[in-house]
Amino acid sequence: MPTRPYLFYGLTNSLCSQCLTKVEAKIIFQDSGVYLAKHCPTHGREEVLIADDIDYYRQTQAFIKPGDLPLKFNTPIKYGCPYDCGLCPDHEQHSCLTLIELTDRCNLTCPICYADSGVDELGGAGTTSSPSHLGRN
Ligand code: SF4
Ligand SMILES: [Zn+2]
Repeated sequence: MPTRPYLFYGLTNSLCSQCLTKVEAKIIFQDSGVYLAKHCPTHGREEVLIADDIDYYRQTQAFIKPGDLPLKFNTPIKYGCPYDCGLCPDHEQHSCLTLIELTDRCNLTCPICYADSGVDELGGAGTTSSPSHLGRN
């Protein structure tokens, strides 16, 4: 009997990269990579590589701990994650990474950037902010 060319590992939520609609995503192991296989009713199927080492990905699943409670939640639960971000009371994560925005004039136009940068933001001047700029955003 033929089998699928990948191993179905789990199910999660993601966003369509085209319309940002929340969609279900299968976590699949294929070849040596871990992918999110998403299906948007409007834009169809897309696969996104999230790890290029399956063993490493499995090991990361062991490093979980109870979520940190922020001093204050800033947004109500209204539309569900991720549309309520702010933080909302549904947030389950702990702090794991500090982001310091050095510039808001990056022109790399990375589709997964959460620094809200890009050539269209401030005319694409592409200069790096001085350290005194840190913390203003
Ligand atoms: S704060 Fe957390 S749970 Fe709430 S929308 Fe943002 S990522 Fe989702
Ligand atoms: Zn879509």
